[in-house]
Amino acid sequence: MFWSKSFIPTLKEVPEGAESVSNQLMLRAGLVRMLMAGVYTYLPLGLKVLNNIEEIIRQEMNATGAQELLLPALQPLELWKKTGRDELMGEVMVRFTDRRNRKISLGPTHEEVITELVKDNVSSYRQLPLVLYQIQTKFRDEIRPRFGVVRACEFVMKDAYSFDKDTAGLDKNYAAMFTAYNNIFKRCGLKFYSVQADPGVMGGKESCEFMVPAPSGEDMVYHCDSCGFTEGAKEEQQATKQVPCRKCKGSMKLENTIEVGHIFKLGTKYSESLGARFLDDKGTLNPVIMGCYGIGVSRLVAAIIEQNNDKFGIVWPKAVSPYKVIIIAVDATQEKICAVARDIYENLKKENIEVIFDDRDERAGVKFKDADLIGVSLQVVIGRDSLEKGCVELKQRSSSEKMLVKQSEVLNKIKELLS
Ligand code: ATP
Ligand code: MG
Repeated sequence: MFWSKSFIPTLKEVPEGAESVSNQLMLRAGLVRMLMAGVYTYLPLGLKVLNNIEEIIRQEMNATGAQELLLPALQPLELWKKTGRDELMGEVMVRFTDRRNRKISLGPTHEEVITELVKDNVSSYRQLPLVLYQIQTKFRDEIRPRFGVVRACEFVMKDAYSFDKDTAGLDKNYAAMFTAYNNIFKRCGLKFYSVQADPGVMGGKESCEFMVPAPSGEDMVYHCDSCGFTEGAKEEQQATKQVPCRKCKGSMKLENTIEVGHIFKLGTKYSESLGARFLDDKGTLNPVIMGCYGIGVSRLVAAIIEQNNDKFGIVWPKAVSPYKVIIIAVDATQEKICAVARDIYENLKKENIEVIFDDRDERAGVKFKDADLIGVSLQVVIGRDSLEKGCVELKQRSSSEKMLVKQSEVLNKIKELLS
C-alpha cells in the first residue's frame, strides 16, 4: 500500500473527551472514528488490526476442534422469555417491534439462539461433544459507554459454546478453551492474568476471567507478583492497596485491569429451560451440558494499545501490526531514494510481507512522527546519507536502536527481524 493513496487520517492533537491512552491513540493513529457515543467506525488501519486478531483467534479456536458458524444478530424476544433473561438483561438489550409485530432484540450474546439451534439439530449422544463459535457484532445499550471501543454499544465478540453429554466432557472442553485463551492473548503480545471466580459466588459453576493490566481498566484485581495468583477486588476492599497473598507468603497489589475474555461452565441452565435434550446410550433423555466462552475482540485492540505504547504513539506487537513494515522515503522527490524504496517494497510484496510505503511528498519529520504514531513494527528508512554508503536504516518500533544494513542484505534482515 502507498500511503499517498491510503485513508489514514492521523491527528496531531489529542482529541477532546478521549479519556484513555488507547482511545486517544486509536483516534490519533486513524484506526477508528466515533459516530456517536459507544459506536465506532473501523477505518482501514483499525480493521487490519481487528482482522489480525480475528485470525489468531480463528487459528486457536479451530485447533481445539471448534467449528465456526454465524448466528443472526436479530433474535426473537420469546427465546429470552423462556430463559428468564429477558428481564435480567433489562435495558442493556436493544429491542424493537418489526412490521409483522414481532418482538425482536439485537443480540447482546447468543446462549439462547445457539441452544435453540442445538435443540432442533442434536438428539443423540453420538452427535456430542460439539463446540461451535462465531465472531460477530454484539449490541448492548451500556449505561456508560466509555474508553472508546473498550465499552461500546456495538462491538465485536468471539463467542464459543460447548455441548457435552457429561461433566467430564465439559471439563475437557473448558480446559481446552483455557489453553486456547492463553495462547491467543500471548500471541496478541499481552501481559494478562487469569482470575478464577469464586465457585461459591457463582453457584458452584466454574468460571475464569482473563484480565489485562492497564491504567484505564475498570476492573480491580489483587495480583501477587511472587506466585502469580490473582483475584477480583471487591469494591469495599479497594481502599487497601496491598494485601497478603492467600496462596504464598508474598503480597498482592491492587491493579486496574480490562476484562478481555471469560470462560464459563454453564451446566444445564439453558438446555433445561429451552429443552435441548439428547438420548444417552441407555436411551434416557438428558439435558445437554453446556459451557460458554467469550472474547472481546474489538476490546482487545484497545487493551493491546494500553500495554504497548510510548510517548510517540502505538508500538504494535508484530503479530497484530496492521502492516509488518513501513518504508519511509525520507525525500520522496529524489528519484534515487524512491527507486530503492520501490525495489524493497516490491520484494517485500513478493514475499507476502505486509508493507506500507510512505511515498508522500511530506517533510521527513512528519513521516517519522506518523510512522511512530501508527506503530508499525519495523521501519525501513531510506535517506541520502545511508544510500551513499550503499545502506538503508532499519529500526524496530519497540527499540530506539537504528541499524545500518547493506542494501543487498535488507530483505534477509527484515525477514530475520520479523520471525
Ligand atoms: P463487562 O463486565 O466488561 O461488562 P461482561 O461480563 O458483560 O463484561 P461478557 O458478557 O462475558 O462480558 O462478554 C464477553 C466479552 O466481551 C467480555 O469479556 C469483554 O471482553 C467483551 N465485552 C463485553 N461488553 C463489552 C462492551 N460493551 N464493549 C466491548 N467489549 C465488551
Ligand atoms: Mg457487561
